[in-house]
Amino acid sequence: MTLNPVPLDPRTLPGPVWIVSPHPDDEALGCAALIAALTALGREVHALLVTDGGFSHPHSPSYPRARLAQIRLAEWRAGLATLGVPEARTHALGLPDGALDQVEPATMGREVGQMFADAPPATLLLPWRRDPHPDHRAAWGPVWEVAPPAARRLEYAVWLPERGDVSAWPTTQEARIWSIVVGAARSRKAQAIAAHATQLRGISDDPHGFTLAPEMVERALTGPELFFEAFLQPLPAAADATT
Ligand SMILES: [Zn+2]
Repeated sequence: MTLNPVPLDPRTLPGPVWIVSPHPDDEALGCAALIAALTALGREVHALLVTDGGFSHPHSPSYPRARLAQIRLAEWRAGLATLGVPEARTHALGLPDGALDQVEPATMGREVGQMFADAPPATLLLPWRRDPHPDHRAAWGPVWEVAPPAARRLEYAVWLPERGDVSAWPTTQEARIWSIVVGAARSRKAQAIAAHATQLRGISDDPHGFTLAPEMVERALTGPELFFEAFLQPLPAAADATT
């Protein structure tokens, strides 16, 4: 892809900032350098975890779902702490990992809206609407709809560079494409990713379980981080397309 992204200045992003992660580790892979920059600026940064993360190793005898979900929540919080987000600003919904598209969008939206209520986002970071993971795509609409209309919305790439086909990428007419250089934040980003031990060959008794490939980790550490800011807000669905 020839993108020509424009460098994003974190100082232009107002707080409170909310980072929405469908799974624990999405923010570490997709926007750790930006999070570190925002907390260094003193922004009020909140993180919202949508799923329980418990589906990465469904056949592991030693990590049944409830245990895995508990560990992944702790990994997520530890990774965020290395980026300057305190546990008190982490919020988890516990919706079903791997099955977000089975959750009623209105239900998901209502739960996300309740989380936002005490510190409504002035800046919202959420995975790109066509990021190639079904949970990421399922989370996009409900989160987008319940954020305050005036919130600045930046959609971050997680699996797009790894797995996205051409149609998954934004066009230059569709969104402004921003980048954050990882650079000096590399070691903190590496720490944030390393916190997710269960995803880094930390579970050996599920041969079909998920593992973050070293190439994926290296790509995330090399950067840049990519953020897409849509030029147009999506229009509400027409009640009657013929009128
Ligand atoms: Zn994810």
